[in-house]
Amino acid sequence: MKHSNISIFIPHVGCPHMCSFCDQRTISGAQHLPDGNEVREICGRALSEVKSPENAEIAFFGGSFTAIPRDYMLELLEAAHGFVGEGKFRGIRCSTRPDCIDSEVLGILKEYGVTAIELGAQSMCDEVLAANERGHTAEDVRQASSLIRENGFELGLQMMTGLYGSTPERDRASAAEIIAIHPDTVRIYPVVVLKGTRLAELYAEGVYRPVPFDGMTELCAELMEAFTNAGISVIKCGLHASEFVEQDMVAGYYHPAFREICEMHIYRKRISELLAGMSPGGFRIAVGSRHISKAVGQKKANIIYFRERGFDVSVVGEEDIPVYECVLRR
Ligand code: SF4
Repeated sequence: MKHSNISIFIPHVGCPHMCSFCDQRTISGAQHLPDGNEVREICGRALSEVKSPENAEIAFFGGSFTAIPRDYMLELLEAAHGFVGEGKFRGIRCSTRPDCIDSEVLGILKEYGVTAIELGAQSMCDEVLAANERGHTAEDVRQASSLIRENGFELGLQMMTGLYGSTPERDRASAAEIIAIHPDTVRIYPVVVLKGTRLAELYAEGVYRPVPFDGMTELCAELMEAFTNAGISVIKCGLHASEFVEQDMVAGYYHPAFREICEMHIYRKRISELLAGMSPGGFRIAVGSRHISKAVGQKKANIIYFRERGFDVSVVGEEDIPVYECVLRR
């Protein structure tokens, strides 16, 4: 059954730092702080709008949930808990900073029905974390992850690629460290440079130079494949579509179909491996029935790519073939 989130955005409040890339109000598209009543209204509305509420979670995203003033956090949790306590939604999830997790706050989250916690790890390289003014270390991510796990929560880690001071090698190393932690889920956010941020200044000064877009989609494709192979669910790749982001972006890697482009690269690589050493000709490639469009690519990009190399590839769907798997049916 498809899982869904009732997303409630809490803009940057109470965050002890201002990360180089953060303009949280722009990212969340939210301009004000929701109160408990608004949370009740959103959840009440969602009950009639969401197809299977029993598979949906109330999700507090946007800022650093456990760093907001305690009274405000409790007000929001109280409002959400009414819906989870009555069994209407499956649970509550929230996102926060690795250095804003301890046993005391985890106890509160548990009491109010929180089931999943996502940490903004962003990088597992201390130099990159420092260059982007994150105010925490990779060790904080490891420790907070252990604590979250020990307390029985689902763990999600978010990483950013292409940060100031990072390189594709450093991003790969961060992904490898995240795989070693083995969270239940990951989100990959390629950097988007927003107006008014420190990163925008560094970009304007020519100090921060993002790698080209194609290189980033190929890198994120590689990371998605690595996480998937490790049994970690990639629940997001690329920033979600928002008119605020489109208006305020000055550089970086925003594309409304970013994930689809990455998945096209994964299938291109997998099909290339199958065709390696073959003489040009016609080939039928079977993929999971639900994944045909990913294998074909946007505007048939993969079909065209292989045709230009002498391979007339047709993609067929078959049940039970896992995502990214390809089988040659000549
Ligand atoms: S921790 Fe998150 S919300 Fe706080 S400044 Fe950094 S990116 Fe923004």
